[in-house]
Amino acid sequence: MAQDAKIALITGANRGIGLETAKQLGKTGVTVVVGARSLSAAEETAAQLKADGIDAYPLQLDVTSAADRTAAAKFFADKFGRLDILINNAGVAASTGFEPVNSQVKDDELERIFSTNLFAVVALTRELLPLIKKSPAGRIVNLSSILGSNGLHADPASPIYGFKSFAYDGSKAALNSYTIHLAWELKDTPIKVNSAHPGWVKTEMGTDAAPMEIPDGAKTSVALALLGADGPSGSFIHLGQQLPW
Ligand code: NAP
Repeated sequence: MAQDAKIALITGANRGIGLETAKQLGKTGVTVVVGARSLSAAEETAAQLKADGIDAYPLQLDVTSAADRTAAAKFFADKFGRLDILINNAGVAASTGFEPVNSQVKDDELERIFSTNLFAVVALTRELLPLIKKSPAGRIVNLSSILGSNGLHADPASPIYGFKSFAYDGSKAALNSYTIHLAWELKDTPIKVNSAHPGWVKTEMGTDAAPMEIPDGAKTSVALALLGADGPSGSFIHLGQQLPW
């Protein structure tokens, strides 16, 4: 590891946008810690990145596990003494896909989706914030979605007007609210907190119907992770453009 290399944690880094984000960040010289639900998946991912010349470390991190989150904080404290970049990438989709399930959404579906997409992000960030505060320029990127935009959902002319599945959309809208609140709390620090919409990307979640390839889908996360001191905080960004909340 280069002496001055930034340290990043990417959650859900074993596939999809998370894996590609780790790859692209690693290629810029960032040391990437790849979080995955199972240790074997994390180890396989880190080995794959290392073979590509990237400084990568595996970390078993089921973001919904309090024990894993505490162990993650201990890992960064012991190994690096700080964390520069946290990418809250892990997320789950509705079990009904893009079907418009709203009034009929089940309690267990709401709990499952909010647990991963919101509660785990808040809890992991709380656990890691003391280490991010030790970074000279901490960056937190929350993987949201255009489907979390209340403004666009309320607009009959918007492209997402007909794509309403409350559990997922509501989890990302609440995540956006968290981004705004955390950015406000940290406004007098060097830390920047932003929500990213990656695009509609060809992953397991995005399906083959998505128009965007995975390398492009990671670009927004990578750009927000590497923001300079003059970059925004408390924004909702897709490829450099602010989206409506
Ligand atoms: P994906 O291909 O389905 O990958 C999801 C990743 O999250 C996997 O690595 C998965 O791990 C991990 N994950 C899920 N629950 C986890 C948990 N409890 N702990 C740790 N990891 C967990 O999804 P993706 O398309 O790359 O999406 C990445 C992020 O972008 C998500 O937050 C998603 O909501 C957001 N997003 C995606 C799109 C899109 O079009 N693809 C659009 C807008 C927003 P396992 O392999 O163990 O399941």
